Amino acid sequence: ILNFVRRHVSTEEIPVLCHAENLAPCGSCRLCIVEVAPSEQGQRRIIASCHSQVAPESFIFTRSERIKKLRQNILELALSDYPSEKIAAGSGKKATEFQKLISTVNHSVQRYPDFVKSHASQFQEDISHPFIRSNLNECIYCYRCVRACDEIQGQFVLSATNRGFDTRIIKGADGSFDESTCVSCGACVQTCPTEALFDRYHTKTIQADKVVRTTCTYCGVGCSLNIHIKNKEVVGIDAPLDAPVNAGHTCLKGRFAFEFYKSPDRLQSPLIPDRLQSPLIREGDQFRAVSWDEALTYIAAKLKDIKAQFGADSIGGISSARCTNEENYLMQKFMRVVIGTNNIDGCARVCHSPTAFGMQKVFGTGAATNSFDDIQEAQCFLVVGANPTDAHPIAGAKIKQRVIKNVPLIVIDPRSTELAKMADVHLKIRPGSNVAVLNLFAYYLIKDGYTDKKFIADRTENFAEFEQAVLGQNLDKLAEICGVEKTLVQKAAKIYGSSPAAMAFHGLGVTEHFQGSRAVMLLSSIAMMTGNIGRPGVGINPLRGQNNVQGMADMGVQPHQGPGYLEMSAPSVQKELSAFYHSPMPSTSGLKIPEMLGAAATGQLKALWIMGEDIMQTDPDTTQIKHALESLDFLVIQELFLTETAKKAHVVLPAACFLEKNGTFTNSERRVQLVNRAVEVLAGTKADGQIVAEVMQKMGFAQDDYDADKIMEEIQAVSPSYRGIHRNMLGTQGMQWPLVDAHHGAAILHKESFKLGKGRFIHYDYQPSPELQHLGEYPFILTTGRILEHYNCGSMTRRTPTTEIVLADLLAINPSDAKRLGVQDGESVRLKSPRGETHIKTHITDEVNPGVLYTTFHFPEISINHITGCVGDLDTLTPEFKVVAVQVEKI
Ligand code: SF4
Repeated sequence: ILNFVRRHVSTEEIPVLCHAENLAPCGSCRLCIVEVAPSEQGQRRIIASCHSQVAPESFIFTRSERIKKLRQNILELALSDYPSEKIAAGSGKKATEFQKLISTVNHSVQRYPDFVKSHASQFQEDISHPFIRSNLNECIYCYRCVRACDEIQGQFVLSATNRGFDTRIIKGADGSFDESTCVSCGACVQTCPTEALFDRYHTKTIQADKVVRTTCTYCGVGCSLNIHIKNKEVVGIDAPLDAPVNAGHTCLKGRFAFEFYKSPDRLQSPLIPDRLQSPLIREGDQFRAVSWDEALTYIAAKLKDIKAQFGADSIGGISSARCTNEENYLMQKFMRVVIGTNNIDGCARVCHSPTAFGMQKVFGTGAATNSFDDIQEAQCFLVVGANPTDAHPIAGAKIKQRVIKNVPLIVIDPRSTELAKMADVHLKIRPGSNVAVLNLFAYYLIKDGYTDKKFIADRTENFAEFEQAVLGQNLDKLAEICGVEKTLVQKAAKIYGSSPAAMAFHGLGVTEHFQGSRAVMLLSSIAMMTGNIGRPGVGINPLRGQNNVQGMADMGVQPHQGPGYLEMSAPSVQKELSAFYHSPMPSTSGLKIPEMLGAAATGQLKALWIMGEDIMQTDPDTTQIKHALESLDFLVIQELFLTETAKKAHVVLPAACFLEKNGTFTNSERRVQLVNRAVEVLAGTKADGQIVAEVMQKMGFAQDDYDADKIMEEIQAVSPSYRGIHRNMLGTQGMQWPLVDAHHGAAILHKESFKLGKGRFIHYDYQPSPELQHLGEYPFILTTGRILEHYNCGSMTRRTPTTEIVLADLLAINPSDAKRLGVQDGESVRLKSPRGETHIKTHITDEVNPGVLYTTFHFPEISINHITGCVGDLDTLTPEFKVVAVQVEKI
């Protein structure tokens, strides 16, 4: 009834207290009562509107005198728990939701003042947590916080204890926030109608000058954020309830990790190392600040000179998944049209290139087949090599919620992640054995009769060869390689194969391997053979690491494919793009990032322009990267901070951050969403797109200044997948590419057919990684990933109070290994690989099996990529971060 009245009368018509749009109706406070009768004069019943259905031909009375009086009585009960001095605050702009409700119901009588006085200030304010605070003296026991923690995040941190007047909200086992298992998502804070729970910024009650809606800059989930601005500064962030992906929720990074934008470390002037004043003296790494004009003129002259001397292919560009679609589009246009090379690549090379490659081989399209909304439709989840509750927290929370409601879950992962601990089957495989375990999985699907014969016959090709190859495998050998029981794999296959709708998610634990692309092809083939493609709640859904890694690839930031995945080697594409740009397209194939770095080390690549990537910290084998960068004649970096990579540059250009830009990001489910400028561009910096445009101009190309609207028009004109997408149609909900008609995007791909026509089964046998040859001298396998609190190289999150929660990378080691080595929890050890060594503190846990280690790469002090190697995916060269042969030594 409540929703019906809100839709047809007004959202203000019925006051609510325990109700929140993003929570299940609860009906506990009864403030939303209405009278319902079979006719205007008929007998009226009083019911709570939030959880009552509208009956046909009934009359609903929302404001009768009886209802008003009852509501006032109900409010008095809530007021009995509320500090009397706060009641009068009224309906001012700074009023809380509850204070506004008091005015709306027009009743501020406190019938039980003695209770309030005797209990006033009985709770100490809890300021133990860097972001979330509590003053439970303001708690009115609506339980919205408890329900938000349970129903939205699934963390179950908050609960109520005791009865009657002694009832109170507790955190964990009645400790402070920092002692609890709180994951700092802030859902409780956002929903609390008083200031019993609040964030360090007082976002709920701050009198913002304006609120700007934009898209989160961190992971590929693509949450919408409301940025509260006061005096031209960000004073808090919360989540819009109508957000298409996150519906009023965020993780701690989206909501709280924003202060990096005003860090005193932000670069504010182009920098050129002093050493360049004299080419004969290359000592020291001092930079001098120069004007933008000097820096850009210098870059243009250097690039022209290098191109004239060594040819266009001696120059390369690395674009950024942290930048907008429009900026990425411009960067690849600059490299292809102005420089004249296909040497353009991006960070997908170190994460999801195998996904794009593998899915294109099987389906024709290298993007998620379904949408995050489909999590609600799925009847089974298969999560492979992904840790969504840490790395993609909003997607992780959604999956977790469904698993709590008994939807079966299979996890394939070398670690006992949070989801793995909840799984019906956890296949805790040896790192690097995905192809082996997926072969076993496919074997049992076929042998035990879980294939969808009609789908295979109607929609696919090459199944007979695939089936023969799978059935010809040596099962015992595969099980030995994976380190899991065959029967457990068979059980997992039964759960997946017998589900009416099985939805697969995968992450970098699939792609960052020697056989990364091949594992993606097997996973995609498994979905096809069971008919789990082209309908709600199924599919293959890569969880993209960075916010715009999907968009960056869509824009053509790949050496072999231009905007919209146009094959650059195809003569028809060459012709089409040459006509579009009025310039001949480069005909030689471009270099991938590892190839660019190799060419730099051997002197073939002379110049490199890196936009917003800290490859010294994020890419493998730091020593080799350092050597490659130092071998370049010319290195240009666009950055927010003087990162480890920027320190190697000949010119550092200070860039604007996402809060200072307009444009679009495309999330993991292909949703193109608006990025809107919330604060002015920091003095001395420029948007990355503007920087690229100005260098294009300096090099004599007629490029307009950066204008997100105009560039999106150019993108939709040239890219088949973005055709028809205009900025002015994106609104608050964005649009999923490709469009199915002028106004709707495709929530599900491959419904009727594949881009290839028929889906193509592709089989590969397991091949051991060359890295394993080091296992004698380096007997442990190290696998790397990220944690909830920090992001990638940490250059942004380390400049926020998240460092008060997590201060350092730690090495997860099994208790039996720690005991054998005589190492204590928290003790520093030496971690060595054939590439180098570092010192790191241990975290002893059985989340990893004996012989397996795990750590993150967020902190430059540890610089874990000093020890990771250069084995790459056989098809895409994506580095194998997940299998590193190492030795651990007590110091
Ligand atoms: Fe940002 Fe990802 Fe967190 Fe959403 S889940 S708020 S997109 S980091």
